[in-house]
Amino acid sequence: MKFRSTRNNSPTLSFSDAMLMGLAPDGGLYVPESFPTLTANDFAGLTTASEIGHRLLAPFFVGDQLESALPSILKSALNFEMPLIRTKGGPETALQVLELFHGPTCAFKDIGARFLAACVEEKLKSSQRQATILVATSGDTGGAVAGAFFKKNNIKVVILYPNGGISARQEKQLTCWGENIRAFAVDGNFDDCQRMVKEAFTDVDLKSQQNLMSANSISIGRLLPQMIYYAQASLSVFRKTQKSAHFVIPSGNLGNSVAAMWARKIGLPIDEIVLATNANTAIKDFFASQVFRSKKTVATLANAMDVGNPSNVERLQDLFYPNNEQFNPRDHHLAAVTVSDQQIRETIKQGISKYNQIWCPHTATAVFAAATVGTSTQENLATDSISGSGVSEIPRLQKEQTVIVATAHPAKFEAIVEPLIGKPVAVPPELQKLITKNSPRFVISPTLEKLIEVI
Ligand SMILES: *Cc1c(COP(=O)(O)O)cnc(C)c1O
Repeated sequence: MKFRSTRNNSPTLSFSDAMLMGLAPDGGLYVPESFPTLTANDFAGLTTASEIGHRLLAPFFVGDQLESALPSILKSALNFEMPLIRTKGGPETALQVLELFHGPTCAFKDIGARFLAACVEEKLKSSQRQATILVATSGDTGGAVAGAFFKKNNIKVVILYPNGGISARQEKQLTCWGENIRAFAVDGNFDDCQRMVKEAFTDVDLKSQQNLMSANSISIGRLLPQMIYYAQASLSVFRKTQKSAHFVIPSGNLGNSVAAMWARKIGLPIDEIVLATNANTAIKDFFASQVFRSKKTVATLANAMDVGNPSNVERLQDLFYPNNEQFNPRDHHLAAVTVSDQQIRETIKQGISKYNQIWCPHTATAVFAAATVGTSTQENLATDSISGSGVSEIPRLQKEQTVIVATAHPAKFEAIVEPLIGKPVAVPPELQKLITKNSPRFVISPTLEKLIEVI
């Protein structure tokens, strides 16, 4: 299996070579040249994430240098639970939540980052090279990447994050490591950080001298493993109900949601995919107008989703309208909902009273979106153009099939959550370990020159 650039102007590469390359030389993002077809039957008898992951990812590793290492990579990367839980309440009121925050840094990004780290380590072993991982983070990526690569041989990690743009505990998780991990607070927003990373990767000298590697959600090495939990959760729903699952996904840079779209493309029992965003409306506007325009990033309570120009839109375009055809999200069972800070706050408050659940601000956007899409309250939906094209109703998201994706542990956002619920959020032991370490801060200006200097 080979991977090609979304801009179709670069050589195709195997998975692990595309992973090392990061961004394709033509500036595009790597996508699989084709998708295997696998149905629920092909997963019969498989239940663990490693087993399901192997069946799902093996076709993408055929002929790859890492082919034989895939089972051990999966085992070491997926060493924590990803439970599909039901909240309290009867069949009409209980919610199904896919908890992806039980990894070492308590966010779903642990999954992609740990898989990537295991792959890179294995790949470098044979080539005897060193590498620098360069990553921009709006919050959780950096922590997950740092944790995944900490003390890995021959790899150093450089993390850029928006100065003042992330929570105190998030910052601790970037700056606490030492050894092979360095983090810099950039005087700018997340888009500035992302731009600096892109510029670094297009600087040919810098890239080859440092053997620069990406760990952002543009990295194919993070995206592929994210399909695994969609496969596992949708199979679990399907085995119970004989119906396809709907996923409601807190979305920012769209890495997580593109993984869901790919899993569906392969044939997993997945129906609606609802993208819940915060007040950054680029995706909702895109779905409504069918024309993508990047937006200025606005700061919200769900800060890991503060993205005005999501890079993975390019993969979405490549998947649904590669030749610039008309793109109608409804035809592809896609919807987008934007959720305001006020709605996030209300949802967190109701979480505790109605469901006995404490949600992080990101997860809260999905909870709110799930409720909105299932009712006739349509102001928030990207339906304007849809009613124009003759489809007047958003299909109800049937409760038994709807899965809300929970992307981070609420204890990472205690400053927002605790005043709303009126009590402290218990800190999981993994997080406690990180936030009690000593963490120096380094601030840099938002330019490539400065980045080269500190690298
Ligand atoms: C990164 C992140 C998101 C957004 O995921 P994308 O793949 O960028 O769309 C949502 N929630 C949390 C907690 C995150 O860290």
